[in-house]
Amino acid sequence: APAGQTGPFAIPTELLIGEHWAPAASGKRIDVVNPSSGEVLTSIADGGVDEAIATVDAADAAAAGWAATPPRKRAEILLACFHAMMAQQEWLAQIISLENGKALTDARGEVAYAAEFFRWYAEEAVRINGELTMAPSGANRIMVQYQPIGIALLITPWNFPAAMATRKIAPALAAGCTCILKPAEETPLTALAVAEIMRRAGVPAGVVNVFNTSDPGPACSAMLHDPRVRKLSFTGSTEVGRILLREAADQVISSSMELGGNAPFLVLDDADLDEAIEGAMVAKMRNAGEACTAANRFYVQRGIHDAFVAKLCERMGALTVGAGTDAATQCGAMINQESIDKIERLVADAVDRGAEVRLGGKTLDRPGFFYPPSVIANVQPGSEILGTEVFGPVAAVMAFDDVDEAVALANATEYGLAAYVYTGDLKRGLQLAERIECGMVAVNRGLVSDAAAPFGGMKQSGLGREGAHHGMLEYCEAKYIAVSW
Ligand code: ADP
Repeated sequence: APAGQTGPFAIPTELLIGEHWAPAASGKRIDVVNPSSGEVLTSIADGGVDEAIATVDAADAAAAGWAATPPRKRAEILLACFHAMMAQQEWLAQIISLENGKALTDARGEVAYAAEFFRWYAEEAVRINGELTMAPSGANRIMVQYQPIGIALLITPWNFPAAMATRKIAPALAAGCTCILKPAEETPLTALAVAEIMRRAGVPAGVVNVFNTSDPGPACSAMLHDPRVRKLSFTGSTEVGRILLREAADQVISSSMELGGNAPFLVLDDADLDEAIEGAMVAKMRNAGEACTAANRFYVQRGIHDAFVAKLCERMGALTVGAGTDAATQCGAMINQESIDKIERLVADAVDRGAEVRLGGKTLDRPGFFYPPSVIANVQPGSEILGTEVFGPVAAVMAFDDVDEAVALANATEYGLAAYVYTGDLKRGLQLAERIECGMVAVNRGLVSDAAAPFGGMKQSGLGREGAHHGMLEYCEAKYIAVSW
């Protein structure tokens, strides 16, 4: 376990295969780095293809028993996971901050959000309702019943190491599926701690398995070619999502994909400036911008533009940047050097094309991976930052005159995850929300994430939905029985 961490147990660092935490046969380890310092925190077992298949064996051995466990019992176990996780909120927040670099306030919020999936799906587990209708011909009944789809492979990213895991595990378990979690190499400790919390809260052996690897391609491919695996749920980049969809194609595995975003944030002249700024701060700065729902492009109507930019610079400039685990930190570290390189490249490209840096705009010269809150205004069409997630604390702002033009700009991307609209006229806001090609639109709000809401994207931002009742149906097969009586 990382130095200085006291918790209810030492964070496991091996693979969770069925009942046991097991080392990798190869003896290989993956270093886990603290992005706030660049220092190695600890190392974890680096699994290979054989161990990947061993986790499928374990999930398979537990599958029939878990599917036959009464829904009420599954619900009680999930509720126990919720309470057990919240009891360790502070400890888990520390682990998240240490390995991800995000500010503790963000990390505490993530733990609460993550735990909420257990509570929500505890409530859903007993509501997997089927349907019974008369066939139009009158000849028979149409009976539909939802059955667990089978073993699920869950692949998660590093930006929300707790919430992206529970958002998949909880509905899988509620539906009666067993699973294998493959966390991101950068942030495995949170997932390992959550898995141990779940075990102690009563999740039976083999129902949740955890597999870490430094080489996810071959291991995940092997699992997706094992006939026992029937579900893939992935959150990560569109690029890797495409690879996994191809891998899943061979066995026609049901795939849920939460991929990249490129969220537009529209501010209309009639918006309340203070509310729009408040929303912008959340939409841009939650997790220091490392969220697929993060506002990536601010389109601000001419009449309110200058005031918006001035206020945004003031508020973003007042944030304290620092190590995630420092109590004063409001904007933590980026995950790694590649992340810094990408931000620098996108800002340089925008500036080359005529944008003006109004705040920040330069990597901080200190250990760890720090980019300051930054505002670039007058971003020109064609700038790379308008088409690529910056995944950092950089707000790219442009003025617009006509609302139809703003909608066209908002939709001019292959992504369609989240969007934000601020206006004083709710009718207009709702009309705009319907025209924006995104799975989620926040109207006069800076946050969309909610365990009770269907989270997901249109276009190349993904397939399927997580959260809400929808999220559980992703782990179910609709079994139709035609019956005459
Ligand atoms: P990010 O850009 O956010 O790091 P990635 O899409 O690279 O996102 O990674 C998200 C998750 O996908 C991580 O758990 C990573 O290990 C996993 N991953 C990356 N490449 C592959 C692959 N070829 N097959 C399976 N999983 C992969």
